Amino acid sequence: MSLVAVCQLERRVFNLSDLALGQQPQSVDKSQICHVEHLTYCSRRGTASLVRPHGFVVGRGGSSPLLGQLGLAVYNLLGNLMTETRDTVILGSGCAGLTAAIYSARANLKPLVLEGHEPGGQLSITSLVENFPGWPDGIQGPELIENMKKQAERFGATYQLAHLDRVELGAHPFRLHTSAGEILTRTLIIASGASARWLGLPSEQALIGHGVSSCATCDGFFFRGKEIAVVGGGDSAMEEALFLTRFASKVTLLHRRPIFRASKIMLERAMAHPNIELRTNTVVDEVLGVEEKEVKGLRLRDVNSGAKSTLHVDGLFLGIGHEPNAKMFAGQIDLDDEGYVITRDNILTTHHGVLIPGVYACGDVQDRRYRQAITAAGTGCMAALEAEKYLEEHGR
Ligand code: NAP
Repeated sequence: MSLVAVCQLERRVFNLSDLALGQQPQSVDKSQICHVEHLTYCSRRGTASLVRPHGFVVGRGGSSPLLGQLGLAVYNLLGNLMTETRDTVILGSGCAGLTAAIYSARANLKPLVLEGHEPGGQLSITSLVENFPGWPDGIQGPELIENMKKQAERFGATYQLAHLDRVELGAHPFRLHTSAGEILTRTLIIASGASARWLGLPSEQALIGHGVSSCATCDGFFFRGKEIAVVGGGDSAMEEALFLTRFASKVTLLHRRPIFRASKIMLERAMAHPNIELRTNTVVDEVLGVEEKEVKGLRLRDVNSGAKSTLHVDGLFLGIGHEPNAKMFAGQIDLDDEGYVITRDNILTTHHGVLIPGVYACGDVQDRRYRQAITAAGTGCMAALEAEKYLEEHGR
C-alpha cells in the first residue's frame, strides 16, 4: 500500500478532518518524528507508522497497515460507544495536558486525553530542549512529550484522537461533541495550546526543523555564528531578533509594512543593535534549500516596487504571533480580544465574569506572557489538583 493510500485510509477510517491530505508525505529527521504510537497501535508489530508533525503526513508502509488502522478504528469506535460519564477529560496532549494527565491519573481520575491536530503540542516540533529542569544535557522535545505520555499512561490515563467541535458547559455533566463522538465529563481541563502562525509557503513548511523555526528560545542555539532572518513587526519578532543575536553573526528582521507594531522600547532596542538590520516593506516569497533539506536563503520581494532579491541566510524564524486554540469555546468561556482563555489564579475559567466550576484552562491557551514548557506543566498540575478538589467536594 502506498504512503498516500495509507494516509487516505486513515482519513476515511477516522474521519480526521484536520489531516493535511493533499500534501505529499515527507521524510523528516528524528527530531521531527513524534507520536508514531498514538496513530498506529500496531506499529510496534512492524505494520505501519504515520507521523503528523505540524500537519504533515508522513507514512511508512509495512506488512499490513490495514490491520493497524483497523485496530485503531476499533479503539476509537469503542470510544464512541462509551456512554459513561468521565471524571476528567483533558483537551490537548502538550506539556500542560500531559502534566494534568499525570496528576489526575495518579489521583485515580482515569483521565481521557483528547489529542487534536497537533498531538504533543509545540514541543513535538522542537528539537533539543535545554531549559526543562532535570535534563542537564537537554532532551529532544518529542522524547520529553513521549516520556510524559508514558508516565501518565502508567497511572491509567487513556488517549483518543479526536477534534473537539463544540461543548455544552451550561449543565453538569459537561457534554463534548468531538469527531470521535459525544463525551460526558464531570470536569474539563482545557490544554489546547496555541499554534504558532506560519507564512504558509510550501517551502517554509517543508523546511520546519531544517532551519525554519517559530521558537528562538528553542532553536537559536543551533545558529551560532550563522546569519539568520526573522519575520514580523511585533514584540515577538523584536524579542526573537534580540535573543538570536546571542548566537547569530547577523540577524535581518523582515517586516511587511513601513510601521512596526512592536512597543517603542523593543523596537528601539532592536534598531540600536549593531548585528540587527531591519528591512521594511519586504515579504518572503520562497525559502530556498528544499532540495538540500536545509535553509540556504530567502527569495524576497519589495511590496512597493515589486523588486525581487535573494538574501543568504542559514535560518528563518517566524515571529508573527500565535493563535490560541480556543475558538470552540467562544460564547461559553470568557476569551480576551485575541482569543486566549481568560483565567483567574492561572487556571480558573469564567463565563460573563462568573466562575465555571469544573472547567479549568492551563498552558498556552491561557498564557500569552510566558509560553514556556515548564510554566505550561506547572499550570497543568494546578488544573488537575483543582479538578480533583472539585470532584471530592461535588462527588464523582
Ligand atoms: P503581534 O503583535 O500580533 O505582531 C505580529 C506581527 O507579525 C505583526 O507585525 C504582523 O504584521 C506580522 N504578521 C502577521 N502575519 C504575518 C504574515 N502572514 N506575514 C508577515 N507578517 C505577518 O504578535 P506578537 O509580536 O506575538 O505579540 C503578541 C502580544 O504579545 C502583543 O501584545 C505583544 O506586546 C505581546 N508580547 C510582548 C512581549 C514582551 O513584552 N516582551 C514579547 C512578545 C509578545 P502587521 O504589523 O503588518 O500586522
